[in-house]
Amino acid sequence: MLSVTKVSFGYKEKLVLNSISFLVKKGNCLSIVGGSGSGKSTLLKLIFGEMDVSSGSIAWGQESILGPKKKLVVGHDFMKYVAQEFDLMPYISVAENIGAHLSNFFPEKKKTRIDELLKTVELENFSNTKVQFLSGGQKQRVALARAIARKPEIILLDEPFSHIDNFKKQSLRRKFFGFLKSNNIACLMATHDKDDVLPYADNILVLENQRVLIEGSPAELYNNPKYPLVAAFFGDYSVINNAFCYAHQVYLVEKSNLKAVTKQAFYRGSFFLIEAEHMGSLIYFNHESKIPENTSVYLKVKSLL
Ligand code: ADP
Ligand code: MG
Repeated sequence: MLSVTKVSFGYKEKLVLNSISFLVKKGNCLSIVGGSGSGKSTLLKLIFGEMDVSSGSIAWGQESILGPKKKLVVGHDFMKYVAQEFDLMPYISVAENIGAHLSNFFPEKKKTRIDELLKTVELENFSNTKVQFLSGGQKQRVALARAIARKPEIILLDEPFSHIDNFKKQSLRRKFFGFLKSNNIACLMATHDKDDVLPYADNILVLENQRVLIEGSPAELYNNPKYPLVAAFFGDYSVINNAFCYAHQVYLVEKSNLKAVTKQAFYRGSFFLIEAEHMGSLIYFNHESKIPENTSVYLKVKSLL
């Protein structure tokens, strides 16, 4: 189990993290969510032991994770880290990068392992390509494969799919998180993409103003976001009768006591997102067709559960 206990940290005087505590059980996935600059990357670096905490402690099971002041060589066998800026060896092939940490004692076994990893990150056809000739997204996939090559007990991922195009993202996520689950690898993932989180995280931790704003399971936070930041993370929402309502919960009816005037319509593929105004505030709802500007509509809210 990873335990992070009352960890605080600042670069020079500026406090970035203030008394952060949480646990990640073996094999579980925790998503760290928060706006740009909320301290997600900083937190991962502290957990990896790349920097010293100002106060508090971090441990994996019984083993304390110490910063560079107390531990000269950063890194552990049980923990791998894929940084936002992944560093690979540019002049050797994809397969060689992925296999760099694998033992050479059993060449056949090593080859099978590399093939499995190439499949997991969908790079079968790039095995012999030198990393310098890859795109940003392809490099990110090599970094992911390299991090899971030795099957660590826990992996730290900093926005792991940020450079990967939408064509690949969905299937890659399924394969990658499938690999983590089937090998019981715990995962701590910083992200601002809800699609990284909802299907794969066991828990979500939201950072705001240097602190943990809230922690809960994806369903708990989705069904009861409690804070505008949390609701906004999951999608377009409005505040109606003091409750957060996602756009898909709000629908058009013939008559109701919620009257609004439409402003804009945004094509979303299978529906339109309609922006409407009600007593000076904006309401967002999904509708199957476009509604012209300045149409009076009556709306209703259906509950989530
Ligand atoms: P996130 O990953 O959530 O975007 P970061 O952890 O990168 O946030 O940054 C948190 C805060 O710390 C930001 O205000 C950022 O400007 C600051 N920061 C990050 N790295 C450094 C650094 N090396 N030196 C000084 N300030 C930093
Ligand atoms: Mg970051």
